Amino acid sequence: MQMQTKRVAIITGGASGIGMAITERFVADGIHTIIVGRDAEKLNQAKNKLGNLCYPYEFDLNQLSDIPVLIKKIKEEHGQIDILVNNAGINMKRDFMETSDEAFQQIITTNVNAVFAISREVISYMLPNKKGSVLNISSMAAQYGMPRVIAYSASKSAIDGMTRAMAVELSPMGIRINAIAPGFIETAMTAVALNSDPERKHKAISRTPIGHMGQPLDVAEAALFLSSDAAKFITGVILPVDGGNSIGF
Ligand code: NDP
Repeated sequence: MQMQTKRVAIITGGASGIGMAITERFVADGIHTIIVGRDAEKLNQAKNKLGNLCYPYEFDLNQLSDIPVLIKKIKEEHGQIDILVNNAGINMKRDFMETSDEAFQQIITTNVNAVFAISREVISYMLPNKKGSVLNISSMAAQYGMPRVIAYSASKSAIDGMTRAMAVELSPMGIRINAIAPGFIETAMTAVALNSDPERKHKAISRTPIGHMGQPLDVAEAALFLSSDAAKFITGVILPVDGGNSIGF
């Protein structure tokens, strides 16, 4: 059997929902997978389930000024960082007029500032090797108007802009930057919004040509591909994984 070269990935929010599916898929592919999250219990559960190749790091990404310390520690403990998946994200359903400055800022801090800060630190370690992949988990909310998710939509549009701008600047240096825009995927995040509102769930499904919601693994398969050398000529894309939601209905 041919020996695979060691690969090290960081997945933020890698212990639940879409992030956990990406972690499982990366580990199954033999990637040393570091998962970052705030919830120690969830991190330990992921570690117990996935074993040796899964490395939990308890950390709150809103602690922006501590991100360089975290990434330096990971680099020292694992020797290299080849892949970053910026998956952690929060949403908050609120009418426009009920959205406070604090609530708006909270979403922007986690969904945008933390993505920028962690990407900059990780890329500083990728640049000397002239190789690396950063994958951002965006949302179709970046492209389409949806009610009651003003801050979330703004944050994901920022991610799309950042993905393209970073790809143009960093691809000549060997760093590929891509994004995935998931449609309606069954996770805790959508359970709150859709399971409590069957009419909305029905509407979401009826607007999806494939005819059902997606599973976290659907996103994970695309994440593995875009993060791998199989996608070495792909950069700056925002790939919809949405059952056709974005092509119309
Ligand atoms: P979940 O709520 O299931 O998971 C979110 C993850 O983010 C959790 O593991 C959480 O970890 C982590 N996280 C949030 N805030 C922080 C923080 N401050 N520091 C560290 N970790 C944090 O969401 P999903 O799996 O549904 O979503 C994953 C990504 O996919 C998000 O970016 C979301 O916007 C995007 N997305 C999801 C869609 C869907 O239909 N589900 C559709 C489109 C996009 P912990 O609990 O440990 O803090």
